[in-house]
Amino acid sequence: MPKRALINIDYTEDFVAANGALTCGEPGQAIERKITELTKEFMLNGEFTIFAVDVHEEGDPYHPETKLFPPHNIRHTKGRDLFGSLKELYEANAGAENVYFMDKTRYSAFAGTDLEIKLHERGIEEIHLVGVCTDICVLHTAVDAYNKGFKIVVHKDAVASFNQAGHDWALSHFEGSLGATVI
Ligand code: ZN
Repeated sequence: MPKRALINIDYTEDFVAANGALTCGEPGQAIERKITELTKEFMLNGEFTIFAVDVHEEGDPYHPETKLFPPHNIRHTKGRDLFGSLKELYEANAGAENVYFMDKTRYSAFAGTDLEIKLHERGIEEIHLVGVCTDICVLHTAVDAYNKGFKIVVHKDAVASFNQAGHDWALSHFEGSLGATVI
């Protein structure tokens, strides 16, 4: 069996909570149990478990998202906290050797980060994706993973988007164009 890692993407207050700055709303809240369950499985199994979490500086004039979206996941704000039971799970295991919380500043968890190095040094061949939004940050992370030669598994009950059509399209794209296993 290939060595696996879980990449948990952007499951934060701003992206999930009812009053989040850029929330997926109910579809995001509906995956809370599944995403926490899967994360727990990887974590307690000793498998590499990554939290890839968007970070922005308020009003950053150089960041392309400043023009596209309302301010979200601003550094040192509650909006960047993990949401609900996932936050509790993370906090209970934050010191573990196989748990890695990383900042990302673009949609893809690979853009400008050391994620690829961390995966390679552990011999990981297969990445499992959960989080939000299916058709933005999960999608862009999957595209980069594909280009870098990783096998991809997307857990369809643990990804969500504010855009149902985008969510459905992305799931078919993972399978049809990125060769991902969607389970
Ligand atoms: Zn962002």
